[in-house]
Amino acid sequence: MEFKKSQKLYEKGLVNLVGAVNSPVRAFSSVGGNPLFIKKAKGSKITDVDGNEYIDLVVSYGPMILGHRHKKVQKAVTKALKSGYSFGASTENEIKLAKIVCDAFPEMDKVRFVNSGTEAVISGVRLARAYTGKNKIIKFSGCYHGHQDSLLVAAGSGLATLSIPGSKGVPEGAVKNTLIATYNDIESVKKLFEVHDDIAGAIIEPIGGNMGVVIPQNNFLKELKELLKSKGALLIADEVMTGFRSTFGGAQELLGVTADITCLGKVIGGGFPVGAYGAREEIMQEVAPLGGMYQAGTLSGNPIAMVGGIATLTTLKKQNPYQKFEEIGSILEIILLETAKKYNVDIVVNRFGSMMNPFFTNQEVTNFEQAQTSDTEKFAVFFWEMIRNGVFLPPSQFEAWFLNSAISDKDIKKIATAVDKAMLAVSNM
Ligand SMILES: *Cc1c(COP(=O)(O)O)cnc(C)c1O
Repeated sequence: MEFKKSQKLYEKGLVNLVGAVNSPVRAFSSVGGNPLFIKKAKGSKITDVDGNEYIDLVVSYGPMILGHRHKKVQKAVTKALKSGYSFGASTENEIKLAKIVCDAFPEMDKVRFVNSGTEAVISGVRLARAYTGKNKIIKFSGCYHGHQDSLLVAAGSGLATLSIPGSKGVPEGAVKNTLIATYNDIESVKKLFEVHDDIAGAIIEPIGGNMGVVIPQNNFLKELKELLKSKGALLIADEVMTGFRSTFGGAQELLGVTADITCLGKVIGGGFPVGAYGAREEIMQEVAPLGGMYQAGTLSGNPIAMVGGIATLTTLKKQNPYQKFEEIGSILEIILLETAKKYNVDIVVNRFGSMMNPFFTNQEVTNFEQAQTSDTEKFAVFFWEMIRNGVFLPPSQFEAWFLNSAISDKDIKKIATAVDKAMLAVSNM
């Protein structure tokens, strides 16, 4: 397998792009080597500029849940292009997508569309503050909520509790209202309430997906919701990754909790830039033009993106692939575990439906600190061997793998063969 053309484009890209990528997760910093440049994708496969074809377990970090270029989506979007790309005024399709989204979440009466998950979370947090009149927000270590200043707080074990900015350029003032708790540890939240008042709410990924997959244990989310409710604070579910992926609707439904504010992105646009935040009527009344919380967007509710979202979600609802995801997911989980055992490699596999990943560690992973016990050098070797055997994975130990509904039995066999070679390579390190 050759990567000559990718290599050339990478070098060219370095001149005018930052690291030749437009999002740092696409850089291969933690696995070594250079990023692949993609030429095209169709169904469950993605092809790089050198003509190498891979089974795609990245699917754009989640959005392409139907696989690439589903014919219904392609047709709808191509047709929409003929009517114009952006109007700066309302269209009927915004109402249609809003209804699909609100119908899918039990306590969502109204929704506002934005252009990315980051924007959805910025707005959702602002809304929690606007509605409660309080300032502080609880964030869980290891959860990612987009790149807004106030939530880019050091997401690492010891330091995390000190609320130190996790990025250069974030002033201390921007994070002074951010409080850090530990995922799956309700006591850590109770402690924050003992020391602080003025807490507007807590934001959480109902299934952790940005420290690798981390699943809420027992009644953690229910207890969190009850605690927040008793304190007059809101639960903000960041379902940018899990929305329409865990099930039609979000992880909340499966976990038996209802958030006060829900933030969406990724699957909702089916590969087009759509984010959204929504809540009960009385909360959404705060948002301009109905209320005093300002939030706007030149391209928000973009007509092409709305059509992409509608076609994706209606097809998804009809396909209802969630049982299939569960089946394929559990097969892949078994393949990973049995192959690791065969070659004596320590791994833990965390999976929730169509989101999963192995951690190269011998201890359970229920929070960020435990995730960090993974051997990232092993992951790097595993990653490249998977690439060489035709499986495209996210280039980081701490990213989830995503299934899509175009994956075939043949693809699974190919993945199994790749896993065998990759685990062997890890065991030979
Ligand atoms: C991806 C993601 C975001 C950010 O969304 P962007 O569209 O990349 O801005 C926020 N929260 C979660 C949980 C995510 O997975």
